[in-house]
Order: sequence, then structure tokens, then C-alpha cells
Amino acid sequence: MTTSEHTTVVIVGGGIGGLSTALALATSGLTVRVLEKEPEFEEVGAGLQMAPNATRILREWGVLDRAMDAGVFAKRLVLRDALDGRELTHLDLSTVEQRYGAPYFVMHRHDLLSALATACLEAGVELNTEVDVVDTRNVKGAAVAISETGEYRADAVFIADGLGSKLRRRFSDDEPVPSGYVAYRSALPTEEVEIEVTEDMLTSVVAYIGPGRHLVQYPLRRGEMFNTVAVFDSPSFHRGEARWGIAEELDGAFEGSCSMVLDGLTSLWRDRQWRMHDREPIHTWVDERIALMGDAAHPMLQYLAQGACQSIVDADCIAQQAAAHRDQSGIDWPNALLGYQAIRSPFAGRVQRNARTWGDLWHVDGFARTIRNQLLLDRSPDDFRHIDWLYGNPV
Ligand SMILES: Cc1cc2nc3c(=O)[nH]c(=O)nc-3n(C[C@H](O)[C@H](O)[C@H](O)COP(=O)(O)OP(=O)(O)OC[C@H]3O[C@@H](n4cnc5c(N)ncnc54)[C@H](O)[C@@H]3O)c2cc1C
Repeated sequence: MTTSEHTTVVIVGGGIGGLSTALALATSGLTVRVLEKEPEFEEVGAGLQMAPNATRILREWGVLDRAMDAGVFAKRLVLRDALDGRELTHLDLSTVEQRYGAPYFVMHRHDLLSALATACLEAGVELNTEVDVVDTRNVKGAAVAISETGEYRADAVFIADGLGSKLRRRFSDDEPVPSGYVAYRSALPTEEVEIEVTEDMLTSVVAYIGPGRHLVQYPLRRGEMFNTVAVFDSPSFHRGEARWGIAEELDGAFEGSCSMVLDGLTSLWRDRQWRMHDREPIHTWVDERIALMGDAAHPMLQYLAQGACQSIVDADCIAQQAAAHRDQSGIDWPNALLGYQAIRSPFAGRVQRNARTWGDLWHVDGFARTIRNQLLLDRSPDDFRHIDWLYGNPV
């Protein structure tokens, strides 16, 4: 086993959370090494909605322009009923920048990851691939990330290994909680999408919400690509089957939906599914010089479109706490990490819980659906009260 040269920070996991933390710390002059188990820094998947609580930070890091070049400014966030197709309400996204000081846009997740990786390299971050970290340990005055082949010492180690985090066991013996809902996605060149993509669809994020199902559509890459996500409550999950959420269930789960939704299903990738999991919030993310961040700390269901955004907020908070606990002799990492935990863990827990509630609200049936629709029909597009706490809150 080899021991690598000591760096100030080691980050385990090179997803959006890990690379954001690397960038935030490297731009404040620290030496940072990222350990990623895969051979490439790559995201399989499709689109991402980027809300102003995160784009404000991307702007501070100097990556907003690069990210937005590959993105699309959405003008409207529209909720429609999945059964009858009617518009229930929309949020006027064109006022987001004025209201929160940063834009709302949508982009391909690969484009965000490559913008972050490029910025990391420019900031001097050492990006190591094919390093599968199996454990982390505090030793006297340092922390160590341990793989089968080597040990990586640092002043602080951040665990950013995602929702399925193995290294989280240091803090909790919990497991990901299956929601029973599964997502099918696609991001295709717009001309290859089987439906007619109208001008309105190229400037909107549209969610069709209905009993046990929803479908989301939005443009990517300046409108050259089109993103579709279909999510449904899997019957095989409720029968207790291990292989739940299979493609054969997809069309049946959307039976009775309006024609726009049924047409949207035609452009999905059916050979890959994302079974939706989250975890219960936990409050301890820090052990001396080792800290959880991103989905490893607070995995959430996707209904608020905030998982990646919250990992960017974590990264910003970590860098701010490191700066606040820095003097001529260096950074007091144990207290910086406790500061980060005190600020971020209650807030992220609130987002996790809210995301579950939004999912429940989207998927109600019967009388509850009638009431929900009426409440949504009554709201005004410039009413941001329900989201101010999230988009406007700097923590
Ligand atoms: C359908 C869907 C839609 C979503 N939409 C949005 C959205 O619109 N907006 C939004 O903000 N969020 C969204 N999210 C959530 C978002 O994708 C995640 O929250 C975000 O990607 C988490 O980033 P992360 O870096 O914490 O984890 P991950 O992206 O999971 O990255 C973890 C990294 O760690 C690596 N790794 C794992 N184990 C090890 C190990 N032992 N050693 C070394 N490396 C390791 C992995 O290979 C991976 O690269 C969505 C999620 C889903 C499923």
C-alpha cells in the first residue's frame, strides 16, 4: 500500500457535490485532491434544473457563464394535470433573477459536471480516477482516505460518494429508503423526439402531475436537445419484488393520462431505470476532520429539483467555514466542519422532508386531487411564497 503526498483536502467522489467542494476550496488557495472510483468524471443521466440558490454560487465561482452557455433559460415552470392535461398553474421564472439575484435555468448534467471539472483543473485540483475508497479514518492531526492500493492523508476528508454512500456508515447504519417510484428518462436531439416540440415547450419546464405518476419535459443545450422524465409508482414494488420498476410496467402505470403525456412516453429510454430512494435526515455529518456532503449527507427525492443545488450550497458553506476558521497557523478544521454541520444539517433535513411532501401532493387522487387542483388554479404566477424559503435562503 502506498501513502500519497499530504494535501490539505481529500474529497471522495467526483460527482457534482465532490467537484463543487473541490472548486470552492481550491479557489481559496488550498491543495485539493479528488478520488473518484470510476474511470471518467461522467454523469449518466439527463437534465438538471438549476435554481437561484445554486446559480448564485456558480456565479461567485466564475462558472455560471460556462454552465449557462450550455443551458436554457426557462421562462415558465408549469404544472399541468396528467389526466386532463389542463394547466393548473405556473411560476413566472423570468422574474427569478430580479427576485433572488440569480437565474433559474436548465442544463444537461454532463455539461455541469464538465464545467466544474474544467474549473477544478484550472484551479489546480488533482483529479484521480479509478480510486475506490473503502474507509476513512482520523489520525493524530490529520484524516486519511483508504483504498485497496493506497492511503491519502489530508487535513480534512470530505465524503461525497452519493446516495448509496458506503462511507456514511461511520455516521449511521441506515440504508437508502425506496419510495416505490421509478424514473425513466431521456435526453435526445430535439429533431429525434417523436412529438411536436412547440416554441412554448422550448422555453418551459412542464410537469404533468397525476395519481401515482408524473411526466416532466424541458429543453437542454440551447433547445438542441429535449429532456423527458416519466415517474410512476411501481406495482411490483408493492408486491415486494426485488426487481421492481421494470419497463413492462411503464405504459400501464400511465393508462388514462392525457394524450400529451402518452405521446411523451414514446421518447423515453426504456433500457435503464432510476429507482427513487432517499434517506431519513441525520444530524451528525462530522467526525473531527471527516465530513459528509451532497447526497451522501442528505439524499432527497427529486420533487423540488434540489439535490445537486443543495450539494453546491454545501460546498459554498464548507469554503466559508474554512475561511472563517483560518488564521496564520492554518485552518481549524474540526471547528470549521462543526460550523458547516450546524448551518447545513437542519436546513438540508427540511429540504429532504419537503421533497417527500411535494411528491405526495403531485401524486394524489380522487377528492384530494380536486382540492389540490383548485388551490393551484387559484394561485398567481408571481406568488413565490412557498419557495422563498428555499430559493431566497443563503444557507
Ligand atoms: C430523476 C432525477 C432528477 C433530478 N433532478 C435534479 C434537478 O433537477 N436539480 C437538482 O439540483 N438535482 C436533481 N437531482 C438530484 C441530483 O442528481 C443529485 O442530488 C446530485 O447528482 C448528487 O450529487 P453528489 O455529487 O452528491 O452524488 P453523485 O452524483 O452520486 O456522485 C457521487 C460520486 O462518488 C463516486 N463514488 C461512489 N463511491 C465511491 C468510492 N467508494 N470511492 C470513490 N468514489 C466513489 C461515484 O462514482 C460518483 O461519481 C435529480 C435526481 C434524479 C434521480
